[in-house]
Amino acid sequence: MPDNFIFCSKCGAQNAASIQFCQNCGVGLSSGLTPAPPAPIPSAAAQGYAPARAVAYAAPGVQYGGFWIRFLAHIIDHLILGAVAAPFFFIMVLPTILRVVNETQHDQEPSPEVIFAIISSVSLYACLAFVGNWLYEALLTSSSWQGTIG
Ligand SMILES: [Zn+2]
Repeated sequence: MPDNFIFCSKCGAQNAASIQFCQNCGVGLSSGLTPAPPAPIPSAAAQGYAPARAVAYAAPGVQYGGFWIRFLAHIIDHLILGAVAAPFFFIMVLPTILRVVNETQHDQEPSPEVIFAIISSVSLYACLAFVGNWLYEALLTSSSWQGTIG
């Protein structure tokens, strides 16, 4: 009578259909309610994310540290931004400052349009720096790095 027997899906051993677990290997048989083997599967699946993250965070050389590491990362970010922004600063702001220095060295009062040029260039630079900083953080935090370089 084939219905009285069931073959283990794992080891292939023949087991009586009335029992729930393979007598050979102990795996749950598919005929009955087999709570014991499937039971760890949902919990493992539910907890699978946490161990995976733990392993990722425990990767060599990667430490998610406290205040000082974040502080250092902040400094690194701003050094990078400063390195990017420095050429803009020299291109935009420095010529107007040099004009003022040149005029004052010749005992001239800085002309209003030069002062206005300085103010406008500095404010334009500040706007660009703000937008650049915003783009930097927005792009990097949304990138695959999930964070800024620092
Ligand atoms: Zn078995």
